[in-house]
Amino acid sequence: MKSAPFTYRSPASLEETLDLLAREPDDASLLAGGQSLVPMLNMRIARPETVIDLNRVSELSGVQSRNGTVRIGAMTRQRTLERDREIAATLPILPEALEHVAHLAIRLRGTIGGSLAHADPSAELPAVMLALNATFALRSQNGSRTVAAEDFFLAPLMTAIDPGELLEAIEVPVPPARTGWGFAEVARTHGAFALVGAIAGLTLKALAVEHARLVLFGVAAAPVSIDWVEDSLLGRELDDDVLAEVQHRVSAELEPVDDVHATAAYRRRAAGALAHRVLRQAAARAAVSDLGSPA
Ligand SMILES: Cc1cc2nc3c(=O)[nH]c(=O)nc-3n(C[C@H](O)[C@H](O)[C@H](O)COP(=O)(O)OP(=O)(O)OC[C@H]3O[C@@H](n4cnc5c(N)ncnc54)[C@H](O)[C@@H]3O)c2cc1C
Repeated sequence: MKSAPFTYRSPASLEETLDLLAREPDDASLLAGGQSLVPMLNMRIARPETVIDLNRVSELSGVQSRNGTVRIGAMTRQRTLERDREIAATLPILPEALEHVAHLAIRLRGTIGGSLAHADPSAELPAVMLALNATFALRSQNGSRTVAAEDFFLAPLMTAIDPGELLEAIEVPVPPARTGWGFAEVARTHGAFALVGAIAGLTLKALAVEHARLVLFGVAAAPVSIDWVEDSLLGRELDDDVLAEVQHRVSAELEPVDDVHATAAYRRRAAGALAHRVLRQAAARAAVSDLGSPA
C-alpha cells in the first residue's frame, strides 16, 4: 500500500519548523528517521495533511555535557549514540540497550527523539530514559516546557507532546559514581521488539544499596518504574534471598495482559526472572565501577 497524498515540507531551521507546526498543529506529522512513520503512512494508519521533515534542522542534533547533565538533541541518530564515547562513559546503559533496538540499518536512520515520541510500550529507549530519570524538552511557537520521563509516556503511541509541539532534546542527569546497570530482554529474535524487558540501576555504598531503580517494559501500556524497589533494597546487600524476594514480588504484583505474542502469565514469570537478572548484573557492575560503566 502507498500513503495517502500529503504536502511535504523540509524546513532548514527550528524556527521555520515551529512556524510550520503552528499553522497545522493537528494535521502535520514530523518526520525524523522515518522508520516508524513511513510504515504508518504506507499502511494509512497515519494520514497527515502535511509531513514536516526534520532532517535539515541541524539544531536538533548532537550531544552536549554540562554541569552533570547530558543533553541529547532529538534528531541524534540511534547509531551515533551507540558509538559516542562520552555516552559510553557516563550513560553506559544507553549504548547497551541500543544494541537491542532493531538492526543496524534502522539505527543508522532512526533517531532517539523518533523512538521516544513514537512511544511503543515494548521499545527499549523509553524504558532507558525512565530508568535514567530523564527530562524531555518540548518546544512550540508558544515557548518551551519540560516533562519528566515518568509523566511523558501516556499510552501506546501516546505521549505528553501537545499538538503544535515537538520534542527538542532529552536531558539526562549523569548518575553518581558506583552506579552499575543491568539490561535484559526476551524477544523472538535479536533486534525484535521485546516481549518483556528489564533495566536496573544500582548505586552502592560499600556493598549496600544506596539507590535502586528497576524499570520494566513490554508489560503494560508504557514502561513501568517499580518504585517500591528503592525503599525495599535501601541499605541491603543483594544476596540470593533478597533477589528472590524481588523476583517473587515483581511476578506477583504485575498485571500485564494477554496478547498474540505472549500470555499475561508468561510475562509475569519472565518479568520476575529478568528483574532478578538485571539487579544481579547491576550490583556486580556497581561494585567495580566508578562511573557505572559495564564491567
Ligand atoms: C523492522 C523494524 C524493527 C524495529 N525494531 C525496534 C526495536 O526492537 N526496538 C525499538 O525500540 N524500536 C524498533 N524499531 C523502531 C525504530 O527504533 C524507529 O527508529 C523508531 O521507533 C522511530 O524513530 P524514527 O527516528 O525513525 O522516527 P519516525 O519514524 O520518523 O517518527 C516516529 C514518530 O515520532 C514522531 N516524531 C519524530 N521526531 C519527533 C520529534 N522530535 N518531536 C515530536 N515528534 C516526533 C513522528 O511524527 C512519528 O509519529 C523498529 C523499526 C523497524 C522498521
